[in-house]
Amino acid sequence: MYHLEVCNISKRFEPGDHPAVQDASFRVERGEIFGLLGPSGCGKTTALRIIAGFERPDAGDIVLDRKVVNSMPPEKRKVGFVFQDYALFPNRSVAGNVSFALHSLPRAARRTRTEELLEMVGLLRERDRMPDELSGGQQQRVALARALAAEPEIILMDEPFSNLDAALRDVTRRDVRSLLKRAGVSAVLVTHDQEEALSFCDTIGVMQKGAIEQIGTPEEIYMRPQTAFVAQFLGRANLLRGVGSGEHAETELGSIPIIPYAEGPVLVSLRPEHLALSKNGAGNAVIVSREFRGHDLTYRVRVGERDYLAHTDYVYDFTPGDTVTLVAREPGVVLRETGLCRRASYDRTSIRGWSELSQPAHSPLTESSPVGREASGS
Ligand code: ADP
Ligand code: MG
Repeated sequence: MYHLEVCNISKRFEPGDHPAVQDASFRVERGEIFGLLGPSGCGKTTALRIIAGFERPDAGDIVLDRKVVNSMPPEKRKVGFVFQDYALFPNRSVAGNVSFALHSLPRAARRTRTEELLEMVGLLRERDRMPDELSGGQQQRVALARALAAEPEIILMDEPFSNLDAALRDVTRRDVRSLLKRAGVSAVLVTHDQEEALSFCDTIGVMQKGAIEQIGTPEEIYMRPQTAFVAQFLGRANLLRGVGSGEHAETELGSIPIIPYAEGPVLVSLRPEHLALSKNGAGNAVIVSREFRGHDLTYRVRVGERDYLAHTDYVYDFTPGDTVTLVAREPGVVLRETGLCRRASYDRTSIRGWSELSQPAHSPLTESSPVGREASGS
């Protein structure tokens, strides 16, 4: 049974405008963390506000615990909201902020529950501090404790980490994820940050122009993007055209394995870490430039008229001007492109697992290549 079901919701603010949200549907299981990921202006906040009840959809249903709640006011929906700017009461202490949401409880119970919640978010010692005496990460944890105090069925978070600096953001994200998991609360996170969505969410819906383009686990949407937009929004991607003949496609890089099987003209995506470079072999490419990134090197490599991005292990060093052999060491992922790609049948039973996907594809370099494999796709 799904905890939250968002069914075909649409919302247009002004007649004649492009809809802010267009026929969006997704489902969240109890205890699941669902992410809505997309660029600024794609309709994430609007979708979240519709779930919370702050906004009425023009069409579609919001179903909580199998009950359509379209006409239920926000305060009745048992939904907690965590905003980007935390929205703490500046003139109330940490404890005061949290206990505010517990006003219906008797005094003693209110105090105990506040302490429990502050303990849970690791801020019991800061209970008497004022919000402006806390770091951004601590403020965000107070906001979360306050949202949890009302015992919501589901927590909605709108870019909750974007005001934190990089170092604090990572820790706070990890903390908040484990807090939500421990509390067993379902959550919807809205973010424009793909790395955040990949590391924080159990399932992600990628949004563009009000519509959801793809829903899947972080691994699925990274390893198996269905559209060029998803491939490129989730990280760097080389897109190449070819002609599919079942399991393989003829491309500029030669014949490469493809998933899913396809016939005819195809557009495929290959991540830079799924391409291998070698000094051995026929030499089909020239190094244009190199970018040292600590854990790996990214090369821009020219094949014919086109440039590709390829990662190599940090120990494997090429110089611009070197002639190299560039091959795919993972299957190319066939993308959906209206009118271009005739896709072969594609059902979930044919989707191979993540571990299988991360195995090296059959390629001439697999055995001899000194290129290191990355442990994960992100
Ligand atoms: P995101 O959160 O992904 O950045 P929003 O949901 O805030 O996107 O906005 C989606 C679109 O709807 C944008 O074009 C935005 O300008 C428009 N929009 C959002 N809220 C309103 C509003 N209250 N009135 C008019 N247009 C709005
Ligand atoms: Mg927004």
